[in-house]
Amino acid sequence: MIDYQPSAQCLANKTLLVTGAGDGIGKQASIHYAKYGATVILLGRTVAKLEQVYDEIVAAGYPEPAIVPLDMKGATPQNYQDMVNTITDQFSRLDGALLNASMLGELTPFVNIAGQIWDDVMQVNLNAQFYLAQALIPALQKANNSSLLFTTSGVGNQGRAYWGPYSISKFATEGMMQVIADEYEKSGLRTNAINPGATDTKMRQTAFPAEDKSKIASAEAIMPAYIYLMCDDSIGVNGQRINAQS
Ligand code: NAP
Repeated sequence: MIDYQPSAQCLANKTLLVTGAGDGIGKQASIHYAKYGATVILLGRTVAKLEQVYDEIVAAGYPEPAIVPLDMKGATPQNYQDMVNTITDQFSRLDGALLNASMLGELTPFVNIAGQIWDDVMQVNLNAQFYLAQALIPALQKANNSSLLFTTSGVGNQGRAYWGPYSISKFATEGMMQVIADEYEKSGLRTNAINPGATDTKMRQTAFPAEDKSKIASAEAIMPAYIYLMCDDSIGVNGQRINAQS
């Protein structure tokens, strides 16, 4: 794991958006960001899961979060813009966004990839990130220092047989991260991509159903890297692909 020990209130007074906040890594990131003082905007498609995360955060006495239900498969560019407008109306500023929501699609030989699966994976894992980033960047620039954090994968810079759409969408995500990081290099906005590494979540279980879960990291265990990249200790880190498990 990345060896980083955050100070108790390192995210105090920050407002952070997390996509895919209802489950897996996004859920743990939301709870940990709140624990370290942030007001977290929980974006996801399953309201009941978002409400559970909301309840957990409030019960722990952390800053009250907000819920934004949105299915990124069907969302339009205008939906993202409207969402960001609502956030900026409601909160004085936005200090960071963890673009975490993704779908796996199907693991299948390249020649067998169904067009619909390709389209869905590209819509959620790539197009949605593009429209979201376009809408978010002006809001993030209003903060003195802000962090835009994409999520990549071990197959995001090294292709692997049968992982077609997912792997290709993560390569493109890394490309998008690098373009934005380069464009905003001299600004207060830093843009990076995090690779969680093998982590015990529903997505991992779908990809590796027979795996011994006790041998892989829990979502909680990889949180130091997620916290580091949102707090001010990572100011100056830009355009990087960061492994949460080193
Ligand atoms: P997960 O447990 O499947 O969680 C994914 C989250 O994304 C869920 O909250 C899900 O919502 C949300 N989501 C999926 N499709 C969505 C849509 N159309 N609109 C809105 N939200 C949607 O996956 P995870 O393992 O935590 O993965 C988190 C990130 O880490 C992903 O980007 C993944 O590619 C990456 N990653 C994971 C691993 C790993 O080993 N786990 C390794 C490398 C990279 P619902 O709860 O409503 O389904």
